[in-house]
Amino acid sequence: MTGTRPRYTRIEQLTDALMVAAGVNTPPVPVDRIVQAQGIAIRATSLGDVSGLVVRKGKEVVIGVNKDHPLTRRRFTIAHELAHALLHHGEEVRYDRDFRVNLRSEASGLGVDIEEIEANFFAARLLMPRRFLEADPEAALVDMEDAQAVGRLAKRYGVSVHAMSIRLGTLAVRRG
Ligand SMILES: [Zn+2]
Repeated sequence: MTGTRPRYTRIEQLTDALMVAAGVNTPPVPVDRIVQAQGIAIRATSLGDVSGLVVRKGKEVVIGVNKDHPLTRRRFTIAHELAHALLHHGEEVRYDRDFRVNLRSEASGLGVDIEEIEANFFAARLLMPRRFLEADPEAALVDMEDAQAVGRLAKRYGVSVHAMSIRLGTLAVRRG
């Protein structure tokens, strides 16, 4: 059941627990392995304008990802769909088109938007854990205006430069 506010604390606890269970201590986070450890299969296929989807059949859950998208985007999509699989029950099939437009959106009070915000928050925390970034000298000292430095971090974490920029911004806000 989804509430009226995104469950940030619970989600960060969940992504931390998944990381510990998988024994992951360094980037890039092996998102495929974490998904499969939950008993969820991943299928990469051509999906047109769909980035990813979750299909439930009884107890079986499958995540589909658009194989024509770049690797960093596929990793983010898989993490986003894992959030829906673990947190948002209800629909048998859920399609995500371009959820990136929601990356910066604020809670509007609509359940579906909150689920999208939660899924993007989950994906960012799973792929760019606070614990890793805070222990990473380059991340701790990065100059956000230094595109090359942000690019190096993005590469190390297997995420897009856009996703890394947003994530570093949220860390800076928390530190400040
Ligand atoms: Zn979604």
